[in-house]
Amino acid sequence: MSNATAMPVLFLSHGSPTLAFDDVPARDFLVRLGARLPRPTAILCISAHWEAAIPSVTGSDAPSTIHDFYGFPQALYDLRYDAPGDPDLAARVVKLIEAGGQNALISSDRGLDHGVWSPLILTYPQSGIPVVQLSLMHHKTPAEHVALGRLLAPLRDDGVLIVGSGGAVHNLRALDWNNRTGITPWVGEFDQWLGDKIAAGDIAALSDYRVQAPNATVAHPSEDHILPLFVALGAAAGKAEMVAGSLLHRSFTYGSLSMSSFGWGV
Ligand code: ZN
Repeated sequence: MSNATAMPVLFLSHGSPTLAFDDVPARDFLVRLGARLPRPTAILCISAHWEAAIPSVTGSDAPSTIHDFYGFPQALYDLRYDAPGDPDLAARVVKLIEAGGQNALISSDRGLDHGVWSPLILTYPQSGIPVVQLSLMHHKTPAEHVALGRLLAPLRDDGVLIVGSGGAVHNLRALDWNNRTGITPWVGEFDQWLGDKIAAGDIAALSDYRVQAPNATVAHPSEDHILPLFVALGAAAGKAEMVAGSLLHRSFTYGSLSMSSFGWGV
């Protein structure tokens, strides 16, 4: 278990790439979030938008801003998030994963995708805090992502803020661009179940969400936006079997996206 001074762990729902420009409650939450947390020495972010066969870590000391979306306003493509990288932290992440018996590698050229910068540009704008991104693992289960997260837990004792960035509910096929903040019943049901299990610290139930949760396969037609939650969960738990987290924010946008965000040790 991490000690009492360990950094919190977060799971943030990042919603649409337009979040930085949207006048929605989730944007206001992210703008205020940094003031609630101790200042991190660095941020390790696991985003829904990078999956790799082997866990991969950004190794650049000046990662670029990746605009990995299409058909949005030019202003979004003009945004840059100029956080420095942290090659030493990247190397340490690889070592921790290797010490857990898995392969991992440094990706020297890779920048930060919008799953990373879209929330962080609001929470930590021009902060100078280094940011490193770790990929998800292609074709791996929630439980395997919890196991990956557990390996990262020691970083919390060195002031590293571990952030999973995805979506508590994320179904792009059911988007309703005219519904900016309304609650769709099936979205609310899944989101409530998720929040209840996180509050209970029930890692086993969460890892089995696809069987146990209401509307799970509609809430997540693919798993990419919920897998960062499991990495965060593992990092929060360390070696513990259970770990209770708390709801930091809940709102809904565009009909089929939950913006619920959770914290452990906050
Ligand atoms: Zn996304």
